[in-house]
Amino acid sequence: MTTPRPERNGRLLFEAAEIITGWPLVRARLSAAHVPDARGRCRGCTSQTRDAPRWPCALAVLAGARLLTPP
Ligand SMILES: [Zn+2]
Repeated sequence: MTTPRPERNGRLLFEAAEIITGWPLVRARLSAAHVPDARGRCRGCTSQTRDAPRWPCALAVLAGARLLTPP
């Protein structure tokens, strides 16, 4: 049986967060770039083909890794 996609994504995000906890410069840059605009969309996640995701995006969550709990 395969792991449901949302559960797997949550686990991957948590594992990535654990990794970058030891990389303060990466976290600082992610935090600085992935901030909300006036519409509540992420300024750091831009795409020419679709709207930016609502903030906090996955990378903003990742940058605040200390707030994450294991899935
Ligand atoms: Zn973003």
